Amino acid sequence: MNENQKKHARKKLFLKIFGCIFSAAGIVLAVIGFADFFGAAAEADMPDKFWCVFAGFPLLFIGIAMLLFGFRKEIARYIKDESAPVLNEFAEDIRPAVRSVSSAVQEAKGERACPECGESNAADAKFCNNCGARLKKICPACGGENDGGAKFCDQCGASLEE
Ligand SMILES: [Zn+2]
Ligand SMILES: [Zn+2]
Repeated sequence: MNENQKKHARKKLFLKIFGCIFSAAGIVLAVIGFADFFGAAAEADMPDKFWCVFAGFPLLFIGIAMLLFGFRKEIARYIKDESAPVLNEFAEDIRPAVRSVSSAVQEAKGERACPECGESNAADAKFCNNCGARLKKICPACGGENDGGAKFCDQCGASLEE
C-alpha cells in the first residue's frame, strides 16, 4: 500500500467513523427533540429542547452522506453483486426468444424453396442444390430478379418464358 492509498484509506476510515457518530448523534438529538416536543405538548408546556430536531436532522443527513462516501466501494460492490445474477437470469430468460427470432429472420431471408422440388436453398442460390432447377430468373427486358417459377417479370411484366 503506497502513501496515497494509505491517505485514502484513512480518509475512508474517518468518513466511516464520523459518519457513524454524526448519524447516531443526529438520531439521538432528533429523538430528544421530538420527545421533548410531544412531552411538552402533553403537559401544555413550551418545548425547550425542540431545537434538537433542527440540529439532529442536518447531523443525521451529514452522517448518512459521510457513511455513503465512506462505504461507497462496499455499496458499489454490493450493488454489482446483487445485479449481476439478476442480469444473468434476464439474459437466460430472453436467450431462447432471441434465438427463435434470429432463426425466424434467417428463415425469412436465408432460405428459398425450390419451385420444382420444394428443397430449401440459400437466398443467393441461382439453382436448386437438389434438382438443379433455376431458382431465379433474370428478366431479359429490365434485368429484374424474379422467382425461378415466374412466367412474367414482376417488375416490368415481360414474359420470362424461354
Ligand atoms: Zn429443386
Ligand atoms: Zn422485367
